[in-house]
Amino acid sequence: MEYGAYTAMIDRSMEPQVAERTVAYLTEHLSQFLRKNEQVLICFPEHTPGNLSWLMEQAVLRSGACPVVWGADRRWKALLQLAFYRKATAIIGAPLIVLGLTKLKKAYSLPLYIRRVITAGYPCLDWMIDGIVQGLDCQVGGCFSLGLSSVVAGFACGHSLGVHLWEEEYGVDIVDSSGQSLPEGELGEILLYPREQPELRCVMDSMARLDRTSCECGCGAVRLVDFRPGASTDPELFALGQELQRWTSVLDCRLNKGESGLEIEAIVFPGEKLPKLPAAAKRVLHPFDPEHDEPYWYVPRVKGMRKGKSDI
Ligand SMILES: [Zn+2]
Repeated sequence: MEYGAYTAMIDRSMEPQVAERTVAYLTEHLSQFLRKNEQVLICFPEHTPGNLSWLMEQAVLRSGACPVVWGADRRWKALLQLAFYRKATAIIGAPLIVLGLTKLKKAYSLPLYIRRVITAGYPCLDWMIDGIVQGLDCQVGGCFSLGLSSVVAGFACGHSLGVHLWEEEYGVDIVDSSGQSLPEGELGEILLYPREQPELRCVMDSMARLDRTSCECGCGAVRLVDFRPGASTDPELFALGQELQRWTSVLDCRLNKGESGLEIEAIVFPGEKLPKLPAAAKRVLHPFDPEHDEPYWYVPRVKGMRKGKSDI
């Protein structure tokens, strides 16, 4: 897919009627999770009308809760302070950012009480959810989207049995590595497109199966199940990234296969036991600096634009 098509898809998500339908859909689902007047921390840095953060804020407002929006100040500790001092009891954010909050909470021994986490903008993997549940002692629900700044295409099943797609708005095609459609029910790359503009086919860089059997939760919408990293994901970088992110001593990490080979950049908590890192890698480890450190951000990858880079 061309980069232009992806940009066009993001632009489309900002059209007023698409934004309105998405907010209405999110409100319907968020209302099940949020309480009246509850402070909800929204952990997405970009906050322009039409993007995921903005859509979530509108839905939180309509649910009767109070959004606390993470603005231009992206420092990790500022995020924690927002959650703590504003007494946010629910968080909506990308799983890795919420996971980072659990590590900060531990590092600073803060009595942070979070009732519910709703993850969005990134496919949730079981170990991320486990880390969040253990770290914040909360319930976790999920929300699925195309990425940070684009349309929301579905919502996690209320019984955690995959992701129900908003099929009136978005179609999904499951394809093999050459882009050919696979028979329904087979595992393959997820390709998503708006019904109104089927030529905009967005590669999700994740794999899943499409399941049309009736769901235990009672929702009749088609489901994506068995999520896993896309075939284009570098398995070595992915496995190493997962391993590093599991360590409470590593607040954040970024991996890259560059000119000098494997490059590892990590923000770590001083005094904690660090994971064993590959000796051959070019390593940049620096202690957490609350004044300056910003979370690394997951950049949705677009086919044809990948350069072997991975923010995990
Ligand atoms: Zn369901």
